[in-house]
Amino acid sequence: MGSLDGKVALVTGAASGIGKAIAERYAREGAAVAIADIDRQAADAAAAAIRAAGGRAVGVAMDVTDEPAVDAGTDAVVQAFGALDILVSNAGVQIVNPIESFAFAAWKKMLAIHLDGAFLTTRAALRHMYRDDRGGTVIYMGSVHSHEASVLKAPYVTAKHGLLGLARTLAKEGAPHNVRSHVICPGFVRTPLVEKQIPEQARELGLSEEEVIRNVMLRHTVDGVFTTLEDVAQTALFLAAFPSAALTGQSITVSHGWHMR
Ligand code: NAD
Repeated sequence: MGSLDGKVALVTGAASGIGKAIAERYAREGAAVAIADIDRQAADAAAAAIRAAGGRAVGVAMDVTDEPAVDAGTDAVVQAFGALDILVSNAGVQIVNPIESFAFAAWKKMLAIHLDGAFLTTRAALRHMYRDDRGGTVIYMGSVHSHEASVLKAPYVTAKHGLLGLARTLAKEGAPHNVRSHVICPGFVRTPLVEKQIPEQARELGLSEEEVIRNVMLRHTVDGVFTTLEDVAQTALFLAAFPSAALTGQSITVSHGWHMR
């Protein structure tokens, strides 16, 4: 018996990193999972790997900033699996630069992927979750940067703070329909998104890569340790499997103590 037996989950950005780890964990707990990603090939490969391990999964080509693609992809998941119980709005990218030289196009791209993507996938999911008030859980992938700022990351910090507002609004609007919402706020996890940032930040800040890891990324943790994919997937499982609205509208920080409140 898995804790998500009979549930259907759609995870965006699930062809890589954190999203992939959550999708795999959900599948092991019995959920049918949709691996939605802009990278169609990688999404199909991740879904095939889950099926090869005995789980249920489909790959879905979805750019989360594309309204028709989000609506059609979400409807296709419901067609395939009969329902939608869990949305993990996780797709994200990082672009680092100081504010004074941040290109407007790059700013807009960041807000589009992180905020428009969260809104569009939420709206598409609610059309199914609200039907007969069957309900569901929506989890946004925030960050410690939902609560803290760091230099060079203005649109990322802005967008990740914004997700708290969306999640809290959804907690209130969704309650009569049995929909709950949460934001998971990880510290640094060594995914492709973070590996790319290490040399970029080293260049921008004039530090060695080792110094970026030790003195920037892990500086405020209690133990100098990276958060792992498993840490985040375990948290996403706990929130998705939680049985009541006692837990809704919350942000849960998973970060080795970087930012406590
Ligand atoms: P990753 O680069 O490993 O994976 C991101 C995935 O999102 C990729 O598969 C990519 O193809 C997909 N993607 C990008 N743009 C997309 C779009 N427009 N539509 C659909 N899919 C798209 O990154 P990750 O580290 O696993 O990050 C996942 C989420 O976790 C992001 O929201 C990120 O901000 C957040 N996060 C990451 C960390 C970390 O340290 N890695 C920490 C806190 C929060």
